[in-house]
Amino acid sequence: HLSSIIAVCIENCISQETLLRVSMIDVLTQVHNRRAFNAELSKELSRACRSQHPLSCLFIDLDHFKQINDNYGHPTGDRVLRGSAQTIKEQLRKTDFIARFGGEEFAILLPGCEKPQALQIAINILQAIKRQQFRADDDREFGITLSIGATTCPTQQIVPCGLSDLADLLVASADKGVYQAKAQGRDQVCFSPFNDDTALQTEEVELSNA
Ligand code: GH3
Ligand code: MG
Ligand code: MG
Repeated sequence: HLSSIIAVCIENCISQETLLRVSMIDVLTQVHNRRAFNAELSKELSRACRSQHPLSCLFIDLDHFKQINDNYGHPTGDRVLRGSAQTIKEQLRKTDFIARFGGEEFAILLPGCEKPQALQIAINILQAIKRQQFRADDDREFGITLSIGATTCPTQQIVPCGLSDLADLLVASADKGVYQAKAQGRDQVCFSPFNDDTALQTEEVELSNA
């Protein structure tokens, strides 16, 4: 009797663990979802606080993705999302974290990365995506481009702020970089400095630096 009660308890624990894992994964792309990103962001920011290591963040938005759906159909659009998630993931280190943030947007955390290393990873992602060819249902081949916003939370700014303020600031800064990259013609990385000045200056990153 006791062993069957223990068996039920273990089964319950396993089911709960499985549910938790599934609730953190994006069904379409199989990378983490936004809920998982928020949880990981808090974790990484506390870790960065303790260890005084920098934390970089990339925001990625597929360029003119609506046109892909319109030109080639929604199932092809879905394949592009899956394929690009995979390609982006291949450019990351084991310690990095990728999530699908929204429709055609991905967010990446790069623990321990200063600005130059974060930019290098962003440029690697841009180039890997540019090399990738996608195929529509009617066999037409096409490529895509990305706009990337990058930011780095520097060690010295970690101490005085609260964690949730830092999380908001990190996301807002990376998002600002994407906005700038779009405004400057897409297919590029823009670095947005991490501070609480709303009139942030962003800088375009030269692909030729890669
Ligand atoms: P921009 O370069 O300015 O980012 O333009 P865009 O077309 O990429 O951006 P917009 O926000 O106009 O369109 C995003 C599109 O992404 C619209 C929406 O239908 C599509 N989308 C969102 N989620 C999915 C999905 O899961 N599958 C597919 N196939 N399309 C999706
Ligand atoms: Mg978008
Ligand atoms: Mg887009």
